[in-house]
This record gives sequence, C-alpha cells and structure tokens, in this order.
Amino acid sequence: MVKSWDVIIVGGGIVGLSLSLALHKRGARVLLVERGEPGREASHAAAGMLADSGFEMPAALEALARASARMYPEFVHELQDESGIKVDLRDQGTLLFPAAEAVHDPQGLSANHPLPAPLRDLEPAVADADRPALFLPERSVDPRALSAAALKAAKHRGVDISSGSAVRNLLESHGRAEGVATDRADYYAPIVVNCAGAWAGQLPPLEFPTRPVKGQMLCLAGRDFVRHVIRAPEVYLVPRSDGRILIGSTLEEAGYDKRVDADVIHRMHAAAVALCPSLAHSRLLEAWAGLRPGTPDGLPLLGPTSKPGYFVAAGHFRDGILLAPVTATVMAQVVTGVKPEHEIAPFSPARFAGLAGLGTPGP
Ligand SMILES: Cc1cc2nc3c(=O)[nH]c(=O)nc-3n(C[C@H](O)[C@H](O)[C@H](O)COP(=O)(O)OP(=O)(O)OC[C@H]3O[C@@H](n4cnc5c(N)ncnc54)[C@H](O)[C@@H]3O)c2cc1C
Repeated sequence: MVKSWDVIIVGGGIVGLSLSLALHKRGARVLLVERGEPGREASHAAAGMLADSGFEMPAALEALARASARMYPEFVHELQDESGIKVDLRDQGTLLFPAAEAVHDPQGLSANHPLPAPLRDLEPAVADADRPALFLPERSVDPRALSAAALKAAKHRGVDISSGSAVRNLLESHGRAEGVATDRADYYAPIVVNCAGAWAGQLPPLEFPTRPVKGQMLCLAGRDFVRHVIRAPEVYLVPRSDGRILIGSTLEEAGYDKRVDADVIHRMHAAAVALCPSLAHSRLLEAWAGLRPGTPDGLPLLGPTSKPGYFVAAGHFRDGILLAPVTATVMAQVVTGVKPEHEIAPFSPARFAGLAGLGTPGP
C-alpha cells in the first residue's frame, strides 16, 4: 500500500507552515516536505515588522496586507495557545523617519500620521529629537518564535512533516500533479502547493520567476533602548520584549549567497548608533543573512498554475511574515475549491505566461 495525502506542501517556511494549518482545519490530510529544518530560511532571518501602512509596498498589495495585519492577533492567539510558545506580538507602533524628499511632500504625510507625543518623549534615545517623523500603528512579531509555534501546532494537529528531504520534481499522471519525488521517496497527493520561497522557481517542471534578494541583519543585547519599531532610510530598528534590538537590513542581488560581510554589519551598526547613540555600548549577539523570495514585479505568486493540481504560494519578498495569515486563508480556499475571500487575480502566476509553462491556470 502506498501512503497518500490530500495535499503536499513543498517548503516549511512560515508560508508553508501556515498553509498546512489552514488546510488541516478544512479537513485535509497534509504532508509538508522541507529540504532542511522547517522555519530556518527567510522566515528565520526576518525582522518581523508587520508593515501594512502602504509605505514601500506595491499598491496592488495594500488591501491584502491590511487584511493580513487585521488577522494577526487571532492568528497569534491560536498558535500560542496550541504550541505554548510566546511569539512576542508587539503593538507599540512604528516611528517612520521619511527620506528627505518625502519630508517636503505637499500631501503632508505627517498631517495624516501625526506623532501622538513629541519625539523626545516617545523615544528619548533618538539623537535628533527634531527629526521629522510619522507614527504608523503597525505591529511587530518575532518570526523565529512564530515559525516554531506554527511548526509545533502543525505537529500537534497531525500534519505530517518530512524534514531533511528535498523535493526534486513534481510527479505527474495524464498531465495532472500526482505528488512529488524527493531525495528519500516519492509521495503522492492529487494537489501539490509550491511554498519553496526563494527556491520556488527551481522545482521542475514550471519555472516561476522567483529570485533570492539577500538581507543582512544584526542583533544587539539592549536594555529597553527603544520601544517602537524605528524605520529610517539608512537603517531600521526592531525591538523585542526581551530587550534584544534587531538592526537591518540590506537588499542585495547576490544569488544564493548567505554569507555575512563584516563591513556591511559594521556600517549598519554605525548607522544605528548615529540614530540612537546609547546603542554604542550594546553587545553584538548575532549577525546573519537571509534570502527574501523576490519576483519581477514585487508581488507574490498565489494560485493555481497551468498544471492541474499544482499550485504556488511564494514570492512574498519583504512581507512574507506579514502576509502569512491571509496567504494561508486564501490558498486553503483556492486549493479546496472555495472562492477566495480576497481578490488574488493580480497575484496569479499566469501574469508571467511568457515563461516556461506558466500559461493559463488549468482546472
Ligand atoms: C533580512 C530579512 C528581513 C525581513 N524582514 C521582514 C519583515 O520585517 N516583515 C515581513 O513580513 N517579512 C520580512 N522578510 C521577508 C520574509 O522573511 C519572507 O517573505 C518570508 O519568510 C517568506 O516565507 P516563505 O515560507 O515563503 O520562505 P522561506 O522561509 O524561505 O521558506 C521556504 C522553505 O522552502 C524550503 N525549500 C526550498 N526548496 C525546497 C525543496 N526543493 N524541497 C523542500 N523544501 C524546499 C526551504 O528550505 C525553506 O525552508 C524579511 C526577510 C529577510 C531576509
């Protein structure tokens, strides 16, 4: 007897893990296949800003991003409940220091997003208390804890997880997906969802145009230096409730290279210290790099592919942590034949129809 599932998910980042939970809730028997350890790639590297206010985001993504941000408290509540892992959802908000050109914006950005108090009271550690700043009511989360909680909840609910085996190929029968071939074995399901992040385009037979966009980060041991997420053009700071402060990040086209460059880390550290001089004496805890799943138009790939039974949920670029709950919801709906509650047509892989096999979605 060959064991089979209703759905196989390729990739155990936050997108694959969240989708496995949403599908399981809808009664599907799910196998998640992860090449390494679940939650150790981009979802481990992320800062965890839930930046849904529309700054630095393609306009086509704003509605989906806002919907996902609204889902976050419930999403986190369920994961914490089921896993016993705290994921540090913070709602102190974001202080955005706009680029110089935006400060003179005739639309008056600051009028729409005024600070609730003088900057020196909100964040005494910021060196320049007269710097123009906006307040955005955005949350943040600890993505490592979030992935760990999602993994534990998935195991707890009975999602099957195969770690340490890479999917090499889609298995097909009469032109439909019927499973995946891995290093270890062949696994069968009538539905396969590619959630392989920056590697989604490497899985034959369809060549999704995903590419890795490297981001380097560092983390300091803090002492409540800042309360808000601070986003400045030169660097951003993301505080955690245990006192750590994350500093990021670069946007580099460097292929699949995840090496950390000491000079880059030094430059980001210097920029953070210029912003908040009291960080100068904080201990460096860690520096790392991760690979964002980029796409040519900066939008994710969500929905059915031209190969019946084969779906994709990848390419979330800088916002995959933010977009995880809404992605899981709409993809679970699409995969189980339910009309998605949010419009996903702009994210169809068919928009890249000129590329190998990415034609009109099949039945
Ligand atoms: C430095 C940095 C900062 C970021 N900050 C933020 C932020 O503040 N807010 C935000 O919302 N987002 C942020 N992001 C983006 C976010 O991390 C990603 O969009 C998100 O993690 C993508 O999740 P994913 O599950 O698609 O990809 P991943 O987490 O990369 O997971 C993909 C998984 O697929 C597996 N895989 C690949 N190929 C195969 C195969 N053939 N077989 C089996 N498994 C396979 C990989 O091993 C990996 O575990 C940041 C990213 C970086 C790098």
